[in-house]
Amino acid sequence: MMIVMKQAATEQEVQAVIDRVESVGARTHVINGDELTVIGAIGDREHVARLELEGAPGVDRVLPILKPFKLASSQIKHGRPSVLEIAGTKVGGAHFALIAGPCTVESREQTLDTAHIVRAAGATMFRGGAYKPRTSPYAFQGLGQEGLRLLAEAKAQTGLPIVTEVMDARDLDPVLEVADVIQIGARNMQNYALLTEVGRSGCPALIKRGLSSTLEELLMAAEYILKEGNESVLLCERGIRTFETAYRFTLDLMAIPVLKEMSHLPVIVDPSHAAGRRDLVMPMSMAAAAAGADGIIVEVHPNPDEAICDGPQQLVADEFAAYADRVAAAAALAGKALWVQSRATGARV
Ligand code: PEP
Ligand code: MN
Repeated sequence: MMIVMKQAATEQEVQAVIDRVESVGARTHVINGDELTVIGAIGDREHVARLELEGAPGVDRVLPILKPFKLASSQIKHGRPSVLEIAGTKVGGAHFALIAGPCTVESREQTLDTAHIVRAAGATMFRGGAYKPRTSPYAFQGLGQEGLRLLAEAKAQTGLPIVTEVMDARDLDPVLEVADVIQIGARNMQNYALLTEVGRSGCPALIKRGLSSTLEELLMAAEYILKEGNESVLLCERGIRTFETAYRFTLDLMAIPVLKEMSHLPVIVDPSHAAGRRDLVMPMSMAAAAAGADGIIVEVHPNPDEAICDGPQQLVADEFAAYADRVAAAAALAGKALWVQSRATGARV
């Protein structure tokens, strides 16, 4: 249920409603808008309905949230998009995130070189995996703790916030020491225990759409994080499985406007994992940005031919500045701009 308070409602009236909702075992989620305060009541609908809050002081109206996802729904924010503040950057609304970096952290030189290059070109966050979800158990699984240490060094040198994946809740503590955004990989989108732990950590999360997941399933996964009181969730479209075999996955660009209609959460697009081929990354990035995505997460490597994983899809670092300019131009078509303090500060610190 959504309890919309009157414009003139006092703090005491808001608190009284919260207390009554919580007294029947439901959780509350308060959204203080510019004009109105809305209290989301998540729990047994019957119990909340029995409170008959319609007549309570300060209450304007009580509305049901019809979707199965509640906190993720656009309804709870009255159709307004969320703008998330993440480690000194903003994502959502007019703010476009350009998250770039290698598939995996391989070495100190590869990590730091890429971080400096993408930062100089206007990237707003740095990505890199220390724990890698690999199809084969015999393939490189990531550098683990050593990879995290290198990511921390990249952050210290460039100031870029770090996006990195966690696959196992047992690795959460060390990952939280360096991550500004925790990535939930496509294969873990429905790992509800992991989602709950990430929700409890309070760390912003980027959740990738599962290989064969519907948008509703993606939003239900986001709901697991939101329900723990963690409001910083980025949704990520990264391509889904279809019958097409000419490229790796099918990038579902329609998911951008549709997710934005369904949810207030920012929508990020990963063209790299969808395409599996470098030549498709630029056109798909521009299309995603022009379609209103709130950001792109893209793989970049100083020498992709030598990359340990996902070489064919990683952009060549030296070509990243030209890429970033074109993506920024496409984002501008949708009324968004990169969140960069200053491009001129790209020099090594
Ligand atoms: C990744 O971003 O490195 C990755 C493995 O992505 P996905 O989970 O989308 O396959
Ligand atoms: Mn990859």
